[in-house]
Amino acid sequence: MAELLKEAVRSEDIIARFGGDEFLLIMDDIEDIAVAERIIEKVLRAFNAPVYIEEHELFVTASLGAVYPQDGDNAETLLRNADAAMYIAKSRGRNDYHFFTPEMNQHAQQQMLMETHLQRALEFEEMSLHFQPITCSRRNEVVACEVLLRWHSPVLSNVSPDDFIPLAEDLGLINELGEWVIERALEQYLLWRSSLPDDFRMCINVSPKQFQKNGFADWLLALLEQHQLSPQVLELEITEGLLLNRWSEVDEQIQKITGAGIRLSIDDFGTGFASISYLRRYSFNTLKIDKSFVAASLTDSADAALIRSVIALAQGMGLTTVAEGVETPEQAELLQQLGCDRMQGFLYSKPVSQDHFMHLVHSSESVQPA
Ligand code: C2E
Ligand code: CA
Ligand code: CA
Repeated sequence: MAELLKEAVRSEDIIARFGGDEFLLIMDDIEDIAVAERIIEKVLRAFNAPVYIEEHELFVTASLGAVYPQDGDNAETLLRNADAAMYIAKSRGRNDYHFFTPEMNQHAQQQMLMETHLQRALEFEEMSLHFQPITCSRRNEVVACEVLLRWHSPVLSNVSPDDFIPLAEDLGLINELGEWVIERALEQYLLWRSSLPDDFRMCINVSPKQFQKNGFADWLLALLEQHQLSPQVLELEITEGLLLNRWSEVDEQIQKITGAGIRLSIDDFGTGFASISYLRRYSFNTLKIDKSFVAASLTDSADAALIRSVIALAQGMGLTTVAEGVETPEQAELLQQLGCDRMQGFLYSKPVSQDHFMHLVHSSESVQPA
């Protein structure tokens, strides 16, 4: 990466590796901001082509935060502000850049606060699990649940997993957190088991980073065995993004997991970049149609057509389809007509605590669409 960067900038500019995956680029003698922008864009273009390491083809992305002289009169302030701008660039998707604005300090402070508290959230027992029922379209019964992580911090109150999961990934906390989720979910299943249907499934979100850890599959299989649970109880939800990283370690973990009979589900289908060939490459069991398509299905005929073809594709490949984010009876009816197997969404129930979940399973009327 250092070589690529060196080629992209002027010979008089300074490039330094700042630590980890962070580089610093110092450009002196810039007459106006447009010149800086041109160089930044050139730097980003340097990342367009894949990088080859041995036989691996790697796609690397960069996020760039930029400051201009007025953004600070000392190195420390400039660095801090560039960092804040980089976070914004990162959050808007990779391969982007952003100039610093004073409002960003607030965001950066929030991020730092979250970082500090997240480190100790598990130890302080601030994490808990919620469960959202997944209902069979034909039988109107709860046949599975999605396990969703909740963080209640005494300082920050409720923080959304959309905010803290990426941070946990960045901080290297995701493996510990992810293992905690699986352990807790299985313990919960053991307590519930006698009141649940035999083929009930716990669907757990797994971060791509967890699959990158060697030994994840072995750990998981040992845990199931320790509890004397069938692998069929579990379904792991992974997003399309994971499949973009064609790492052999990831492949190995996935193959071990599916080979042992743990089910695999592709989450947020339609929002990432995965191609249909990925669906063939791994043994998926379930395809989850992203809630953005469900939300638009009634107003936008193109989205309805897309759902129709996704369901046809899934059926052709023997996959179970789950619609996410079903909020209205009209959506449920349309999805049912299109042949969608399972429904999940606020229409049936929000994610709820463990006690509440048992009520839902037992009172069948609560899962009937209103
Ligand atoms: P996801 O896997 O797509 O989970 C579904 C999200 O949709 C949940 O958000 C759920 O509360 C929400 N949802 C369910 N029904 C409806 C509906 O009818 N309408 C709308 N608008 N939303 C609905 P939540 O709980 O905030 O989780 C957000 C994301 O955080 C999840 O998206 C998942 O990617 C991630 N996440 C949650 N728990 C975990 C975990 O234990 N591990 C990992 N790696 N990621 C997790
Ligand atoms: Ca999910
Ligand atoms: Ca999803």
